[in-house]
Amino acid sequence: MRAAIVADIHSNLAAFEAVLRHAEAGGSLDAIWCLGDTVGYGPQPNECIALLRRYEGRAVAGNHDLAACGRMGTDEFNAAAAQAVRWTEEQLSETSRSYLQALPMVVSEGDFTLVHGSLRWPEWEYLLSSEQAQGHFELQRTPYGFVGHTHMPLVCNEAAPPTLRPAEDGERVELGAERLVLNPGSVGQPRDGDLRAGYALYDGDSVSFHRVEYDIAATQRAMEAVDLPRWLSERLSEGR
Ligand code: ZN
Repeated sequence: MRAAIVADIHSNLAAFEAVLRHAEAGGSLDAIWCLGDTVGYGPQPNECIALLRRYEGRAVAGNHDLAACGRMGTDEFNAAAAQAVRWTEEQLSETSRSYLQALPMVVSEGDFTLVHGSLRWPEWEYLLSSEQAQGHFELQRTPYGFVGHTHMPLVCNEAAPPTLRPAEDGERVELGAERLVLNPGSVGQPRDGDLRAGYALYDGDSVSFHRVEYDIAATQRAMEAVDLPRWLSERLSEGR
């Protein structure tokens, strides 16, 4: 079993393609598990959904996915994010819209639970503290969980209290008796100061974390061409 775990692609096709090239260089993928926010912020929502759907896999909805297809309002979004949501909503093909409308909030896949934010608050909670991890673990019925939403790669184990630490590029986490919640980082808009696209790979025994260079300028040009907010484009070259 070889699965790529991706989160927060955010309509960044160049980043998503680079991640898939990197993942497939080591062997073919049996599945992609997607932790939500496939759209929002970036310039290629339909292309990213179509590419994701070429693979077997499971996916959950993120807050941007929900807002872009009308399942959530944009009151809680900042101005630039809300503007990108409205732009995305106009671009979505009927196929893409139906796909987003049907996405579940939580799925279980074997030993894993997939959710965008946390099990306590799937569409909004940023799992960044020990207390938040504790709340999440209380609801996690599988040994391991994957979350996205913070755009920062993370390893968290169920100690008392749970301990959280950033996941490094190339790091491998063996899956054993210890319960874990892992965040693969963001494909399309990393926020940990590293500009490279982030993702994780499950090989049946362990999960490895990876960072991949991609053509940031190509995505920025595509964003400028459709007048997406300049700040959203600039932050890609800052990793924030
Ligand atoms: Zn996101």
